[in-house]
Amino acid sequence: MSVVSLVRCGSYDSAELEGAVEKSLEKAGFAKECFAGARVAVKPNLLTVAKDDSAIITHPEFFRAAVRIIRAGGGTPVLVESPAVHSLQRVIKKTGYASVMEEERIEAADPARVKTLHFESAHRFKYIDISSAYFDADMIVGLPKFKTHGITYITGAVKLMFGAMPGMEKSKMHLRLPGHEDFADFLLDLYGAMTFGFDPPKPVLHIMDAIAVLEGEGPGQGGSPRQMNAVLAGKNGIAVDCAATCLAGLDIEKVSTIVKGFERGYGISSPSDLETVGEPVENLQMSDFVPASGDSIFSNAFRWPFNTRTFKNLFVERPVPRPELCTLCYQCRKICPAGAISKAVKGKNIPEYDYGACIRCYCCLEICPEGAIGKKPGRLQWLLGFLEK
Ligand code: SF4
Ligand code: SF4
Repeated sequence: MSVVSLVRCGSYDSAELEGAVEKSLEKAGFAKECFAGARVAVKPNLLTVAKDDSAIITHPEFFRAAVRIIRAGGGTPVLVESPAVHSLQRVIKKTGYASVMEEERIEAADPARVKTLHFESAHRFKYIDISSAYFDADMIVGLPKFKTHGITYITGAVKLMFGAMPGMEKSKMHLRLPGHEDFADFLLDLYGAMTFGFDPPKPVLHIMDAIAVLEGEGPGQGGSPRQMNAVLAGKNGIAVDCAATCLAGLDIEKVSTIVKGFERGYGISSPSDLETVGEPVENLQMSDFVPASGDSIFSNAFRWPFNTRTFKNLFVERPVPRPELCTLCYQCRKICPAGAISKAVKGKNIPEYDYGACIRCYCCLEICPEGAIGKKPGRLQWLLGFLEK
């Protein structure tokens, strides 16, 4: 049985939050004394600069609550993160993490130091470069944010580990693995490596910030913050993601990292292996949570024949910047793994997109600080909806 604790928490008020996080650990069978003497790599979702209350990043007060508990248990918390485009220092400085890091005197690991992690049981990627700070740590604590995601449907504990890879290497993986299923396989190889690949394996704990979550066109500025009022904790990231997806009232069958995760022998093989403790699921479950529209073409049997340049343009949603919001900061251009974005042509104030080269990874959507990039359906996408009925 994989145990996931559910604790109600309605705000980021530090007193309420710290109590809720501590309770979630206890209920998940993890006494804070387990941190005694340990150097603990604490990995929030701090991919980019975003407002604290935008539900795009793990809330800095959630991070504060976790590091305080680790320290109270006798451990030494270290922030480990490798943002996609900006330096970690800049992301810290531009978010509420700056004051939390200073007030709590937390060290940030250098994301430029990288080491290769070998996991022989991985399906395809047996050697993955990750921040060497994970090697230096005795324990790993993931602090995922629950959000919708245009590719992986949801992002939570499993997808969080993607941030263990160095900065731009992440977006290059989208280029190597443009299909959703391949990408999910890679995420599970990485998750397996982080969980079982160290010698000896390091204790890993996932504490999910699902107090304010992101619905709609997440995981970036296109999504909408929404209260779920929950803290989830568990040792199995697939189980934590499964529980959170159920709380959102979403179909776990649409989350490849959960469905494929069940087949991996990573400690949970079906929803019946999941035991939730604490607050009853029905007390927190939502009935009108809005999923990301994504592009269902890649997640069903129709995928293969359409995964070509021509059919992609006809059937898959394309990212389109909006001139009224775009500031020509070119963060989208910097992150694009396919080199599909060029500078604006004269007279236009949006970047130029090459939709033939675009692999629909939606990294640009996620990174755009203005929420200026939307999705437009492919010209014949209506046909797919018709066929699926
Ligand atoms: S679309 Fe967004 S990320 Fe790209 S240049 Fe405009 S504001 Fe910057
Ligand atoms: S244009 Fe956007 S969606 Fe297309 S490959 Fe580049 S980053 Fe990905």
